Amino acid sequence: MRSIPTLMLLLILIGCKVDRSARISSDNFTFIELSKGVYSCIHKFGGKAICNVGIVDNGNETIIFDSFLSPDVARELLTALSELNLSPVKYVVNSHFHNDHIRGNQAFAKEVKIISTSRTKKLIEEEEPLQIAYEKENAPARLAVYDSLYLSFEGDKQSREYQQILMWRPYYETLSNSYKDVRTRIPDMFVDSLQNFDGPDRRVQLISKGQGHTYSDLILYLPDDEIVFSGDLIFNNCHPYVAHGNIASWKIWLDFISSLEVSNIMPGHGQIGTQELILEMKNYLLDLEISAQQLVDQNIDIEELQSIDVPEKYKNWWFDRFYAYNLSFAYESLKPNQEE
Ligand SMILES: [Zn+2]
Repeated sequence: MRSIPTLMLLLILIGCKVDRSARISSDNFTFIELSKGVYSCIHKFGGKAICNVGIVDNGNETIIFDSFLSPDVARELLTALSELNLSPVKYVVNSHFHNDHIRGNQAFAKEVKIISTSRTKKLIEEEEPLQIAYEKENAPARLAVYDSLYLSFEGDKQSREYQQILMWRPYYETLSNSYKDVRTRIPDMFVDSLQNFDGPDRRVQLISKGQGHTYSDLILYLPDDEIVFSGDLIFNNCHPYVAHGNIASWKIWLDFISSLEVSNIMPGHGQIGTQELILEMKNYLLDLEISAQQLVDQNIDIEELQSIDVPEKYKNWWFDRFYAYNLSFAYESLKPNQEE
């Protein structure tokens, strides 16, 4: 191994000293520099970020990709960013309509454009009032369950059981307050296929191929940096939520992402990963379809699907409660064809 020349070592040390991003610490997310001017906030267990958020400075303007579940966490991020001397925040992207990706929108100045697909804008308009009303009714009871589990827990705090409590409790706490805290801010700029937001430092592309994880999804791609912010088209080490999407279209989306030059992927949930995440997600969807087909072939009643175990391969993935919903969704997508 070659030794590092002294000058280079000095530059590395100086670089570390001026890396202001390293100073950003939060109970809600881990702040990671992916490239100069490109950052990720990765949700921390016990925090209220819930989804991952990406930040890109193109040299003229800064674009935020997704905006967390909690408006408070979006405000916290804005305060933290003000220390980084980035270009002004001009756009916030909503990758899809799910509450955990859009509820920080209101934290941004009114001059900031909120970008989504036009379908996602409609979905936010229609679904958010219903969703917030549902949360007002139902989230407090779920919070009470997790509060009591949290307060009475006496086992190993590194255990999966305790980590699950740490993960869901702040989620339900945030939902319990959504009717007081959330002022839904609807997107006001739309990208339905491809739009470039290039600046002197890099090319930035927003791309939509329509439905996948939901009825309409949008990703951000940085060709010069080989980075993708995938939204929930990709989860890392977590079960995705499938029932608002279309498995066939989702697989086409994944093939498309796989055709791009990509070194780093920021998934919607879970840690930063490489190209491998694309294949893992595709295999999950394929496995789900195979399992659902077997159940259809065996004429298993849909009610019984709720008690089916998570396959061994996915036992360690978080959000395991999604598996039964996902299997039922895949089963129902196949069943009508079967009856034709
Ligand atoms: Zn989602």
